[in-house]
Amino acid sequence: MEKYEVVIIGAGPAGLRAARVLSEGGKDVLVLEKNRIIGPTVCAGGLTIKNFDFVPKNIIDKTFNYMVLHTAKRTYDVDMGSHPVFTVDRGKLGQWMSKEAQKAGAEVRTECRVSEIKDDHVLVNDKEIGYDYLVGANGSNSIVRKFLSIPVNKTLIAVQYMSKTPRTDLEIFLEDFKNVIKYDWIFPHSGFTSIGMGGWTNNAAMLRRSLDELCDKLSVEKTKFEAAHINFDYRGFAFGNRFLAGDAAGFTSGLTGEGIYPTILSGEEVARGILNKSYAYPGIKHLLKTKSSQENLLRILSINRSIPQIVFNNFLPLLLKRRNLCIMINNKYSIV
Ligand SMILES: Cc1cc2nc3c(=O)[nH]c(=O)nc-3n(C[C@H](O)[C@H](O)[C@H](O)COP(=O)(O)OP(=O)(O)OC[C@H]3O[C@@H](n4cnc5c(N)ncnc54)[C@H](O)[C@@H]3O)c2cc1C
Repeated sequence: MEKYEVVIIGAGPAGLRAARVLSEGGKDVLVLEKNRIIGPTVCAGGLTIKNFDFVPKNIIDKTFNYMVLHTAKRTYDVDMGSHPVFTVDRGKLGQWMSKEAQKAGAEVRTECRVSEIKDDHVLVNDKEIGYDYLVGANGSNSIVRKFLSIPVNKTLIAVQYMSKTPRTDLEIFLEDFKNVIKYDWIFPHSGFTSIGMGGWTNNAAMLRRSLDELCDKLSVEKTKFEAAHINFDYRGFAFGNRFLAGDAAGFTSGLTGEGIYPTILSGEEVARGILNKSYAYPGIKHLLKTKSSQENLLRILSINRSIPQIVFNNFLPLLLKRRNLCIMINNKYSIV
């Protein structure tokens, strides 16, 4: 039987970052990816400053020094000061991360869907591949998480159009909570615009209707509809010689849906833990602290539909004024 020290399932940002760090640390690493092309995925591609040191400049589509924030009562231009927000092309990001992992020595195989997991090997395309360590980095619907019998009870749904209508500003809408607690975004890229919505519901059809209304209101063309669940039900990441990273572990923020940064960071941390048994996981500890305070806020907002309206109309302006910049970026943690 073919065997590797570390088998990583999934060539998303979590798996590729883990592969690079493990290979740089001298491990024999295989990444198995079910898709033929690495990178493209359902994502709006918004990145906060935390990721910028990590991501090369040629992957950045657009840079935003301010954000237009809409509440039911008012629209604000939020100055980001020295903390701009970027949009990136997930296809280019994946291709670059894959090259970096391979340069470090990892083997990346595409069109390899893992169909079964056993105690010491995985089954892919009817072939057994052995492992000493297994990393489940295969997104919100993880086969490794299922093998570990870890349920997923907390998800949000995100829906978007990759519209051909160009838009200039990065915009967030916190204004309509009649049917569900949700936020809407407009993330301009080069050549297309992601206009989407994240909501704490299981009703994707209702979110789509609401997104269609927003597109019509703003005269945005409805091209290429996409939708996906995001798992934010974190219940641990280290289970003996098996690990979960990224959305498989539920590291994404349940409040903001921001997943690229937690995903890359958790991939790196899992790799460091495999390389060094006494590693204390400072990055994951920091991430979980931020995630927990954001999800406490989500719990408060979810108590009653009128609460988000009260919070966003009355307290958000005060908060923005006090901090004089965007609240989203105050959890900086460098991963370089
Ligand atoms: C509509 C939408 C918009 C979003 N916008 C943003 C945003 O603007 N900013 C942000 O930070 N986050 C955003 N996110 C979240 C972000 O996309 C995810 O958190 C991030 O991609 C998770 O990375 P990952 O590596 O854990 O998993 P993924 O990126 O999902 O990668 C998992 C990989 O595993 C592969 N795989 C799955 N099963 C198997 C198997 N059995 N065998 C082999 N391979 C397998 C998949 O093909 C995939 O390539 C958005 C999500 C959605 C749905």
